[in-house]
Order: sequence, then C-alpha cells, then structure tokens
Amino acid sequence: MPTPAPKQVPDRHGRFGPYGGRYVPETLIPALDELTAGFAAAWRDKAFVGAFRSLLADFVGRPTPLTHAAKLSRQLDRRVYLKREDLNHTGAHKINNALGQVLLAKRLGKARIIAETGAGQHGVATATACALVGLKCRIYMGTEDMRRQSPNVFRMRLLGAEVVGVDSGTHTLKDAVNEALRDWVANVTDTHYCLGTAYGPHPFPLICRTFQAVIGEEARKQIRKAEGRLPDALLACVGGGSNAIGLFHAFRNDAGVRLFGVEAGGRGAALGEHAARFDGGRPGVFQGAATWILQDDAGQIQGTHSVSAGLDYAAVGPEHAYLRDIGRAEYLRCSDDQALQAMHRLAEVEGIIPALESSHALGVLDAVCERLPKDGILIVNVSGRGDKDVAEVARLEGVSL
Ligand SMILES: *Cc1c(COP(=O)(O)O)cnc(C)c1O
Repeated sequence: MPTPAPKQVPDRHGRFGPYGGRYVPETLIPALDELTAGFAAAWRDKAFVGAFRSLLADFVGRPTPLTHAAKLSRQLDRRVYLKREDLNHTGAHKINNALGQVLLAKRLGKARIIAETGAGQHGVATATACALVGLKCRIYMGTEDMRRQSPNVFRMRLLGAEVVGVDSGTHTLKDAVNEALRDWVANVTDTHYCLGTAYGPHPFPLICRTFQAVIGEEARKQIRKAEGRLPDALLACVGGGSNAIGLFHAFRNDAGVRLFGVEAGGRGAALGEHAARFDGGRPGVFQGAATWILQDDAGQIQGTHSVSAGLDYAAVGPEHAYLRDIGRAEYLRCSDDQALQAMHRLAEVEGIIPALESSHALGVLDAVCERLPKDGILIVNVSGRGDKDVAEVARLEGVSL
C-alpha cells in the first residue's frame, strides 16, 4: 500500500486536517497563545534545547538502547527490535515530555505546575521533573485511581508534590483532566498545565510530540547502525498517543516504513468494554480537541475499560486521527487477554517485563509480522516497564503476593 507523506501538521491553527484545534473557555486562549509563542522561541534557542538534551542524557539516561530480540526474531522469521523506553528514569517515556514542559514553564517564569494523572505515571514523571527543576507541583487524580494506584500516590508525595483527589464523575482520569483545566483557568498567570500526552488544545499535541520525538530520532540512527537500513515497520501502543507519535515522527516521510498503532480492545466489542476509539468511536470534541471519541448517539462520552490504565481514555490524540485518515498509519486493537499473554511471553523469552500498555503493542506482534516480508525489520516501542503492574497482574491471575 502506498504511504503518502503527511503535510506539515499541525497548521498554524493547531489543526491536523479536521482534527485538533482549541475547544476551550475563551479565558484560556491568551495562555495558549503565550505557550505557543514561548515554546516556539524556546525550541529555536540552542541553550534551551541543549539544557533539555543534557538532562535527557544525564538525568533520564538517554539514549535508551535498541535491543535486538533474538529469540522472538527466530520465532517470527522477522528481525524484531525493541526500543527500550522502559529503561528511562521513572520507568517510561513520560519523563521526556514532563521534563521538557517543566523546563519550558520555568523559562516562561511560571511558579507552579499542575498536572492530571490516571495510573500515576505522568504524575510521578511531573513530580520528578518539578523536584529537579525546583517548581511547586500539584497533581489531580481521581479518588478511584488513587485507591487503585496507592504506591504512585506515595511516590508523588515523596517527591514533594501535592496530590489532590478528584471526587466528581467516575473519579478517574477524565475527571482529573477537568479539574486541572479548572485550576488552570483560575491561575493561568503563574501556572503551567503540564499535560501528559499528545492531546488537548493546541499547542499541547505539538509540544508533547516535539519532546517525545527523541524516541524516533534515536531509533532511526540505531537501526541504521545495526542493520544498515530503515525498518519496514514501527509498532506502538496508543493511549493519548505520545509514545507512538514520539517513535513515528522521525519516520513520517519515509514512505517504506509502515506505522502501526494499537488501541486497548479491553474485554469485548460493546461500548464501555474497551478503549478502541477507531473501532467503535466517531469524530467529536472532548477536553479541548476534535478527534475520534467513544460517545453515545447523544454525544455523551462513554465509559471505557482496559486492563492497562494508561490506555483507558475515551479520546485519541488528534494527529493519530489524521495519520489514519490519510492512510499513513494503521490502527489495530489488542484485548486484555492478548496483552497479558504478551507480557508473559516477553518476560519469558527475552527477559524483559513490559508495562501492560506496551504489552498491547506486543500483543499484535504476530499479526503485524505476518504483514511484513520474511526477514523484514520491525521496531516495537516498549514504552514502559512492568514493575508498576506486577501487583495488578498477580491479582488478575489469582495469585496472592
Ligand atoms: C501513559 C503510558 C502509555 C500511554 O500513553 P501514550 O501517550 O499513548 O503514550 C503507554 N505506555 C506507558 C508505559 C505509559 O505509562
């Protein structure tokens, strides 16, 4: 299938084709304008980019390795490589974006950082970056998520952050986002909202992509060194879409490199049982952006389910909706059970326990390999490590720890 090169997106209105944009209260528009201009100036400033790169190296531990999965490769008759975002400080790719945004906020003279978190991974990454840079940090988290993820609540507090429980709605991520947006509207002059994925009103999807693009920039160099050519395909899980777009971006104009994203198929096809926005959703507007959303006939946002908290969100990042529309990227779904099996497989075969989110990408590995030529090269993004999920997996499998 031909893979058309995407236009330069987003355009100056923050649009990815018909998606993206800014659907926010008008009191936030000046703040979004300031952020757009401040980010553009920072990214042109060698000193800012240099400071970011230095911290990625010396604090986060980049570049992360590109590991050849030798035994999986033999099993599949393809050359499978793993991009090891699990080896980053704090255990996932989220620190790339959190660190970049906290540095940006400091440069813009903000005194205070707020963020939302679901499973707590972005909250921990943001609290970590705030401790490093020296900014006050408040994290909004649904009370149901706080109960399910209590070790991460304690981690954030150890790092000096204030964690505020959100008791509205379903007491989960979308309610935490609403509360963070409310705080931002009230305190916009001295506060930066550190949004955790490639989502939200412009310029957040652009900012997050830019800070995460290091994943694909490294992988492109690493695969050329290892194989002397570009890969045939890339594979990543898609919650809001930041680890996937971070891997994809450096390859966007390489027509021979196919892009595969994987959504959470949960425990069934019925609305409410999964978080596969492209396979059960339709276009709409939610929390600042136009994109594909799981909603009912009246446009009410639907509940979602996934074994992995990081993929459990009713909307997908707008750039993914665009890449899908133009046929540049393809999106698959992976069920809870397939993801759990894939987690066991990588642990047993390659000695790496992946996060449940990353296990969704690994869960469609065989299906994607079948679509590649024999000896074809595939890079899978291992977006995070599975340590955080061990207790939950044991519970699901009836093992008491
Ligand atoms: C949060 C998270 C994700 C999902 O978020 P994206 O923005 O889609 O990358 C995936 N993997 C891990 C390990 C996460 O913590």
